[in-house]
Amino acid sequence: SRIISSQIKDEDREIDTTLRPKSINDYIGQDKIKDKLKIFIEAAKNRNEALDHVLLYGPPGLGKTTLASIIANEMGVNLRITSGPAIDRPGDLAAILTNLDENDVLFIDEIHRLNRSVEEILYPAMEDFALDIVIGKGPNAKSIRLDLSKFTLIGATTRAGQLTSPLRDRFGVICKLDFYSVDDLKKIVKRSAKILGVEIDEDGALEVAKRSRGTPRIANRLLKRVRDYAQVVENGIINKKVAQNALKLLEVDELGLDKIDEKLLLTIINKFNGGPVGLDTLAASTGEERNTIEDVYEPYLLQIGFINRTPRGRVVTKKCYDHFRIQPKNE
Ligand code: ADP
Repeated sequence: SRIISSQIKDEDREIDTTLRPKSINDYIGQDKIKDKLKIFIEAAKNRNEALDHVLLYGPPGLGKTTLASIIANEMGVNLRITSGPAIDRPGDLAAILTNLDENDVLFIDEIHRLNRSVEEILYPAMEDFALDIVIGKGPNAKSIRLDLSKFTLIGATTRAGQLTSPLRDRFGVICKLDFYSVDDLKKIVKRSAKILGVEIDEDGALEVAKRSRGTPRIANRLLKRVRDYAQVVENGIINKKVAQNALKLLEVDELGLDKIDEKLLLTIINKFNGGPVGLDTLAASTGEERNTIEDVYEPYLLQIGFINRTPRGRVVTKKCYDHFRIQPKNE
């Protein structure tokens, strides 16, 4: 199990709930999104209407679910959470929709994984707050329209590009979440440490922040592990040295890279002479899944400028060669 995976793990669920900010002012970073949402929330509240449908996209662990729950809190309405793969049949979605109260928020995680027949239920629901139900079969089939309460759909996805255009077009607000700056991650680490009752100094928090791959979920997970180390091996207080030693033990380097990143990058360098190499070939030669490489590992490696995407595949950059102190062969 990979400590710096940005995907949710069982061990995160409890800590996610404890550490999850509840109001928009506690939500650190993503200022542009917050500013935009604050205005829309205020306006919707003043008109006593449901907020426009919101699409949140970006890599896992950046705070999409958190933002959905904050929006529901700020609007003073209920939040119903589900996910694309969890909704099997159109009837399942119809049941969820008919149970929503006026202005409620429905959060659908991994919305790009809804199947087609379920997605088609969403179109009239989002646009007209209505369900079209077909009764009977063949020539006697009749379609009736059922009114729904007005609600806000918040969809989250790691892949905005995989959304069909009729679905994407029905979102009034589209927000792209970016990786967090080290400065914002440091604030998140300090806030979480306070909630967990862990003593951490500025340099300790900075050290954890720097290795969190721009991702709050990873920052919180690393903090938890460093806390364990500090309590068992040290005096419980996290400073720079303690954080460094703990993270070394966890095999997370100073950029937040671990053995799997190393394997991916060194495979491109050694087996494919730096690339370009297609994603499928890379997946086959590293034993990692294509989707996981694309959604989980690659976004951060692109962000720190270690790889580039080209039409013919992935290539590693000079910065990456320098990191491993390897001389590119063809230079
Ligand atoms: P996603 O839905 O994008 O995978 P989550 O919303 O579940 O991510 O966020 C993971 C955890 O990271 C949350 O439980 C929360 O504790 C923390 N987190 C995310 N965004 C922020 C933020 N902006 N400020 C503080 N903590 C955050």
